Amino acid sequence: MTADPECLFCKIIAGEIPAEILHSTERTVAFRDINPQAPLHVLVVPRDHAPNAAASAEAGPEMFAEIAVTARAIATAEGYDDHRLVFNTGAGVGQTVFHTHGHVLAGRSMTWPPG
Ligand code: 5GP
Ligand code: ZN
Repeated sequence: MTADPECLFCKIIAGEIPAEILHSTERTVAFRDINPQAPLHVLVVPRDHAPNAAASAEAGPEMFAEIAVTARAIATAEGYDDHRLVFNTGAGVGQTVFHTHGHVLAGRSMTWPPG
């Protein structure tokens, strides 16, 4: 298992920083976003540190599928039929934490394209 001692999400995974964890497996952890942008806003992260979704997928493509399945399971468990799953990749599109995370958003109407 790879971890970066400086990484915020690695610290959450290690239990060094508290978070409201909704789902946890051998490979992933899901917790509520500290600054929710929708009634449901959860981050699904691989336990293995990688800087973005493509890097995680290069290390093992099944991780991408596991995040998508987990996102749907969480949305369903929280009572939402529909959800949006977003991966920001790069500071230029708003990525601020460089540990792979899928944003699971649900519970309000959303526009397309995203802003
Ligand atoms: P990004 O901007 O990298 O796509 O998403 C990072 C997300 O992490 C943001 O939505 C931000 O609100 C969330 N976040 C930042 N710091 C913390 C924290 O300490 N705890 C939790 N639960 N979420 C955080
Ligand atoms: Zn990390």
